[in-house]
Amino acid sequence: MSLSPAPAVDLGAALSRRAQSMNASAIREILKVTQRPEVISFAGGLPAPELFPIEEVRAAANTVLDRYGPAALQYSTTEGHPPLREWLAAQAGIPAANVQIMTGSQQGLDLLGKVLIDEGDTVLVEAPTYLGALQSFQPYLPRYVQLPTDDGGIDVEALEEVLKTTPAKLLYAVPNFQNPTGRTLSAERRRRLVELTAQYGVLVIEDDPYGQLRFTGEPAPSLYSLGLEFHGDPDRNHVIYSSSFSKTLVPGLRDAWVQAAAPIMTKLIQAKQGADLHTPTFNQMIVAELVQEVLPRQIERVRQAYGERARFMLERVQADFPPEVAYTIPQGGMFLWLTLPQGVDTAALLPAAVERRVAYVPGSPFYALGGGENTLRLSYTSATPAQIETGIHALGDLLRGAL
Ligand code: PMP
Repeated sequence: MSLSPAPAVDLGAALSRRAQSMNASAIREILKVTQRPEVISFAGGLPAPELFPIEEVRAAANTVLDRYGPAALQYSTTEGHPPLREWLAAQAGIPAANVQIMTGSQQGLDLLGKVLIDEGDTVLVEAPTYLGALQSFQPYLPRYVQLPTDDGGIDVEALEEVLKTTPAKLLYAVPNFQNPTGRTLSAERRRRLVELTAQYGVLVIEDDPYGQLRFTGEPAPSLYSLGLEFHGDPDRNHVIYSSSFSKTLVPGLRDAWVQAAAPIMTKLIQAKQGADLHTPTFNQMIVAELVQEVLPRQIERVRQAYGERARFMLERVQADFPPEVAYTIPQGGMFLWLTLPQGVDTAALLPAAVERRVAYVPGSPFYALGGGENTLRLSYTSATPAQIETGIHALGDLLRGAL
């Protein structure tokens, strides 16, 4: 018996417009070449693994299994493990009903995109902004408008000009030690941003995975807390807050949360049910076990280590880089950002850098609408002082040659 040829299904054409709008992450592609062991990589944005509290996590896992038994391994509610939600709510001074546990803040961004963005909605983003947020929002087919930024974060006067002429749905911002620039939005600008967005009816997503990792300077109030002050009611707050245990504790447990007003929260919970039912029960219980004592200690350790690494990298940058190269001075977080003279293309320079055994991330992919070809991001979290010294020296040589 002979088989007749199977009809060909056009698999490419079968993809949704949503899927067709997705791109391979430029950064992940770049990271592949930089992962060779001989390359000193300032490219990755990974938390320092030698600081992970492994023994504490092991002990917490045992405690959780002893205390909860099979319930630790059972399905659980979509909203999240009650003690963890309650702890987070108490920290923020809001009811637990306004807190939703997420499987990484990346999931929070995706689900916020899903429940808030209709095709063609205007989303205001910093130029540059967190690439992962662009990846999350892109499938919901927004129209981006880039907001100019400087060392104090978003230029709020430029924001006002945009809002006067552009009906926008939401503004996405990383106000503390932004990924990719390391910059922080100043306290005065925070107030103005919250007022302006309220006045023009624009939602704000405040993405804050790094806020606890301040190693110098004074903390500024969160946009969320300013929104709360402004409206006096968590169920009327137009600011949505997203944060994570990834940078303070460990990223691999994928534990994070969103704080939002009831009308948004209701839909977020439904969206999360459709996405993954709930964040792993066991992981949430482990984190809940660690928040009281281990988390504050861990935050202190990480702050101190990153502060030292940042100071050392800045020292070497100052000593080794040509004076035409501008750089940010982060007060916390994991990154610093370089701006080279116009005309220098950091993506084109990367192979030469890898040849010299040093890697960075070119800045352009962090711009929603392109630009920033002369910029690049450096991470100081997972390099030793010797690697920072050697790597920054090699990069300085390369940049001098390129100018
Ligand atoms: N937001 C920002 C600004 C980030 O830098 C990251 C991680 N690089 C995330 C969100 C996602 O982190 P996670 O999903 O691990 O919470």
